[in-house]
This record gives sequence, structure tokens and C-alpha cells, in this order.
Amino acid sequence: MWDAGYPGKASRRQWRGAGAVVWTTPLPALHFRPVPMDFSQFDAVLLDLDGTVYHEDHVLEGAAELVARLQRESRPFACLSNSTNSPRQISQRLGRMGMNVSPEHIYPATEAATTYVLEQYGPRPRVFNLATTGMQELLEGHVEWVERVEQRCDAVVAGCPSNVYATEERQRTALVLLRNGAGLVGICADRVFPSPRGLEFGCGAFCELLGYAANVEPVYCGKPEEKFFLELCRKLGVEPGRCVLIGDNLESDVAGGKRVGMKTVLTLTGVARREDVEKLPEAKRPDVVVGDLREL
Ligand SMILES: [Mg+2]
Repeated sequence: MWDAGYPGKASRRQWRGAGAVVWTTPLPALHFRPVPMDFSQFDAVLLDLDGTVYHEDHVLEGAAELVARLQRESRPFACLSNSTNSPRQISQRLGRMGMNVSPEHIYPATEAATTYVLEQYGPRPRVFNLATTGMQELLEGHVEWVERVEQRCDAVVAGCPSNVYATEERQRTALVLLRNGAGLVGICADRVFPSPRGLEFGCGAFCELLGYAANVEPVYCGKPEEKFFLELCRKLGVEPGRCVLIGDNLESDVAGGKRVGMKTVLTLTGVARREDVEKLPEAKRPDVVVGDLREL
């Protein structure tokens, strides 16, 4: 079963957690063969996307096989992301990479932001979209869109400064709406995100700028916010403590999941390195560390 910890010391130690054999060093050729992780003890498998399932436009090792296995075993699962796109857009992106995942299995921060806006300001709140076409798609039909500074506005929904709805003119409109009392809803609190051009300003950086200018505290909806994970569990009808979360980020995935009682698996295919794990106190370490998803 689950040991609460990570072996720490390097060298060729093996460790058994939930049926998975986890190596603290790269897999030694021919010495051991990992057995598939047993997911039957969990009510749902939560799988981060960027850095875990794909990087830019290619699927990472073992990801397609893991998703196919979850589908074949009819296991409840969800793909998580701090993306500013809609589940439908992400499903299409996965399709272009050769993976068939329906939008119902995809839970991005835009979905959490939609739920928050409708619960906090609904019914039919007045909303200014400073974010994406994905946000527009999810809120369309459920809100009254605000377009001008003279209108009453309940909430400004913000993503990254590079989003199509975040033109300079719309930023100035948002600033006035916020100073007139609208709430500021950030899709997620990411400071930056990687793109083919390099590092880009993230939703969190943009929301902090807006919030500072308008003297409004932003509310964030994506990982690692508790409400992101709790709302997902409510939708899936499962308890957080009965879920396993697989991700590449020690803060947004591992810390976020642990905070609500989930078991966590860190994959080293994204932002976190093994040294980052070793620097953490025992309580903050993931339950299992894998080099990539093939080890599951
Ligand atoms: Mg990730």
C-alpha cells in the first residue's frame, strides 16, 4: 500500500507504492521490470496534461498507453489543466496528437472558472471576458456579456495578456469595470507558462497587474486552488481521499492534490526534477516518483 514518502537516497533502490515499483535513479537495464500501478484502490485517476501527457504538440512516453488503459478498464478519470481553453478545444488538440479523449473527461481551469462565476454571481451574471474564446464558449448562454465601461458588471474574467480578448482597449475597459466594483476572476494563478517563443506572462501575473491597478483582490480558479480539486471531485462523485493525481508540477499538482487529501504521483517529464523532490520535507513529497508514465 501507500508509504507516505519517497526513498530519498539515490542509488539503485527500489520502492513499492500502490503496486508500482519506483526507482530513484534511471531504470537499470534488465535488473527489474516495473509492474503496472494498481488503480483499483482508487475511485478516480486524475491526470495532468501539460508536461505529463504532452509537451507542446507531442505526446509524452507512456501517456497514450495510460489513457487507453484507463478507458479500456472503464475507470473514472479526468485530464486536468490550467489551460485557458475549453474542454472541447483541448479534446481537439489531443485528437491532433492522435489521442481520443472526450471533452467530458477534460477538466481545465476554464471549467472551474465557469462554475465559480455562475455560483458566485449567478443567475445570469454580467460578465466581461478579458480572456479566451474557450471562456466565451463556456459562459455563452449563461451570462449577460458586458462590453462597455458604462454597463454594470459583476465579474471580469481574466486569463493571460496574450489572450485574444485581452486587447489593450479591453484591458482599459476591464480596469474601469473593476474600479467600479466588478470582481476579478483569474482562470489560474500561474506566474508564467512556456511557449515556443520562450516564457510568457501567465494568468496570475496579468491578474496581479489588474488587481493592483484596480485595488481588487483576484480570485483564482485553477490548480492548485482547493476549489479546483473539490469541484472536480464533486462532479465525478468521488471523495478527494479516494483519488490519485498524476502530474509534473510539485506546486500545482502535488501540493494542490495533497492539500485535499489525494495520493500523488510525480512524473519527471515536465517542470520538476528529482533534486527538487529531494529538497522537500518528507510531508511535501509525492507518494510516488516516476521517470515517465511508462513506469505506471
Ligand atoms: Mg503540468
